[in-house]
Amino acid sequence: MDTQLYDTVIVGGGPAGLNGALYLGRSRRRVLLIDSGDARNMAAGVMHNVLTNDGATIADFRARSRAQLSEYDVSFRDDEVVSAAGEGDHVVVATKESGTFRARTLLYAAGVRSLLPPVPGIADLWGKTVFECPYCHGWEVRERTIAVYGGAVPSECLASILTAWSDDITYLSDRRELPVDERDRLSAAGVPVRAEKVAGLKPHPKGVRVEFEDGGGASYGALFLHLDMEPRVDPLRPWVDAPDLESVQTDDRGRTSVPRLYVAGDLGRNMHQAAMAASSGGLAAMAVNTDLIREDRPGSLPAPPPPAPAP
Ligand SMILES: Cc1cc2nc3c(=O)[nH]c(=O)nc-3n(C[C@H](O)[C@H](O)[C@H](O)COP(=O)(O)OP(=O)(O)OC[C@H]3O[C@@H](n4cnc5c(N)ncnc54)[C@H](O)[C@@H]3O)c2cc1C
Repeated sequence: MDTQLYDTVIVGGGPAGLNGALYLGRSRRRVLLIDSGDARNMAAGVMHNVLTNDGATIADFRARSRAQLSEYDVSFRDDEVVSAAGEGDHVVVATKESGTFRARTLLYAAGVRSLLPPVPGIADLWGKTVFECPYCHGWEVRERTIAVYGGAVPSECLASILTAWSDDITYLSDRRELPVDERDRLSAAGVPVRAEKVAGLKPHPKGVRVEFEDGGGASYGALFLHLDMEPRVDPLRPWVDAPDLESVQTDDRGRTSVPRLYVAGDLGRNMHQAAMAASSGGLAAMAVNTDLIREDRPGSLPAPPPPAPAP
């Protein structure tokens, strides 16, 4: 067991956790950031829509961020957190390989998992020619033919939004019965529907080949789809019994209803974007810092605003 008492342990070394570490480091806080290195955007390799980092590799972004953090009292462990729980006036965090750590607060920024539908071949193309976010990848495939897969999670709004990047979009319903409003939106966007059962996806020089069960197929420059997400909250059980952290988040600074637990990034109430995750990490770090001042100097600051209702 590491005998130091950190001001904050941060779980997650993506944009949210790293920016939280920067704010806290610059607030003269002693911080430990623990990261298992398997963020969901690793499949893409590069990031877009982040000023001064548009097109940067994720590995480089993370390495440069860590290098800048070395100015401050921030240390790192490349490890997986297996459990975290409140214990009196601190939090105990256990890792797979580096032991146990204690901190006054926990900033939990472990992100979410993308749950791909069971379409054969999709996992191999995920992040290469199969995407979810038009703002992240639309520019790279602009003016190409684009398929939108709506066979698992309804994705007609995604198809409509993609009309900003391409005039040639086809919606693949994979035999799912489309409700009237979904059909109406597709028709208003000028997006035709192919209803055949999808047998699988394959790489293609153009981008991606969709094979249909009836033996036919079609090639597209890219395929987009909406996905289900799973918040990565297992280490917090049973300390937190809510199904996700959005439901325990009480304000837009990442405070939660669980004492000493703060949340930031994709698994809080944020758009799933790197810059917004980073911004929420900064906000949560400010909440941590001011709450620690409140604890150390009672009465020196007004109480935080009352909890906002969940959106
Ligand atoms: C394929 C793809 C491409 C994308 N491209 C872009 C883009 O171009 N631009 C953009 O703005 N957004 C993009 N996004 C979205 C963006 O990746 C996320 O919004 C952003 O990374 C969220 O940051 P985060 O810090 O909340 O979580 P993450 O970046 O997911 O980081 C969470 C970190 O926590 C760690 N972790 C999880 N559990 C544990 C644990 N138990 N112990 C220790 N560490 C743990 C993980 O290893 C990970 O490193 C993309 C997403 C995907 C899926």
